[in-house]
Amino acid sequence: MILLALDGTGAGLSRASLELVSLGRQLAGDSPLGGFLIGDPVQPLLDQARCAVDQLWLLRGEGLPSTDPQRAAQAAEAALQAAEAQLLLLPAGRLGRSYSPRLAVQRGWALLEDAAELQLDGQQLSATCYAYLGRIWQRRSTHPPAVVSVKAGSVSPAELVSVPAAEVRVLEVATSSPLEERDFVGQKLSRVPLSEAEVVVTGGRGLGSQEAFAMLEELADLLGAGVGATRAVVDAGWRPYAEQVGQTGQTVQPKVYLAIGVSGAVQHLSGMNKSGYIVAVNKDPEAPMVKSSDLAVIGDLHKVVPALIQALRGRRD
Ligand SMILES: Cc1cc2nc3c(=O)[nH]c(=O)nc-3n(C[C@H](O)[C@H](O)[C@H](O)COP(=O)(O)OP(=O)(O)OC[C@H]3O[C@@H](n4cnc5c(N)ncnc54)[C@H](O)[C@@H]3O)c2cc1C
Repeated sequence: MILLALDGTGAGLSRASLELVSLGRQLAGDSPLGGFLIGDPVQPLLDQARCAVDQLWLLRGEGLPSTDPQRAAQAAEAALQAAEAQLLLLPAGRLGRSYSPRLAVQRGWALLEDAAELQLDGQQLSATCYAYLGRIWQRRSTHPPAVVSVKAGSVSPAELVSVPAAEVRVLEVATSSPLEERDFVGQKLSRVPLSEAEVVVTGGRGLGSQEAFAMLEELADLLGAGVGATRAVVDAGWRPYAEQVGQTGQTVQPKVYLAIGVSGAVQHLSGMNKSGYIVAVNKDPEAPMVKSSDLAVIGDLHKVVPALIQALRGRRD
């Protein structure tokens, strides 16, 4: 069985989980697909998970869910045993990246990290794996059993249409760790994370300054969008690395991608070219981003973006 490490919020499965479901279904074909959730999911999340897979395990236990990779690995181990799975797919987020190697070593299984373009041909499992923050990528192959951390945005999220049908099994899991999680101090809430955003507004060097990003943030807030940046902008220190889109940043696949003052270098395009609808704002009609876009506004972004903000404000008010 192929097993998926699922997660989500009160609203339902995370986008990363829906991408795993899409990939899991492709790889499993007609075979049943399993999944697990850690903790006590709220009803919308449970319902969606029951639509997404054929068998669902709910892992409960003291200290769970946890951001401690040791506990996460122990919980996943229990799910793998219960499902008798031969393949585990998990999102290559921060936690997944840190607990997947533990699990692979513990089990003596192969590990494919930050994998995209995954294929299962008989007993041959192959993938394109990104390493060193995406500076190199390699085609790798192995035989299941294997643990695979899947690069975000490498497949489209599954559209769940069926009724909640998966059989649910509750598994009590005892985990331990030398780390003690103590008081909950707080949470930094920012706008929609890039990986979850349905609309992304990305700014490039064409903005001219760090300060000019204030108008991009305002635009993003009006659209309920995530903010992205090019590497040129991140290298200049205008935006944090977490916002970088592209080969050495994040891969995103929103419904709408706005590229503002972005030239569209191949390393940037590789991180966003699967977006549903691409809008470019650029003064250069020959820019590669303009050529890759569905709609291009040729003009000075310092005039176009304020006009767009004003129009959106007008609609809101
Ligand atoms: C190994 C490697 C990995 C890389 N990884 C990444 C990556 O992950 N992500 C990434 O983004 N890049 C990456 N790069 C860098 C990439 O090659 C480009 O240098 C970078 O994407 C350019 O960023 P930019 O589009 O912001 O800047 P520029 O290329 O300088 O483009 C600025 C654009 O803004 C337009 N512009 C300027 N002023 C205005 C204005 N007033 N109004 C409207 N338009 C305007 C210009 O016409 C131009 O098209 C990588 C490079 C290498 C070698």
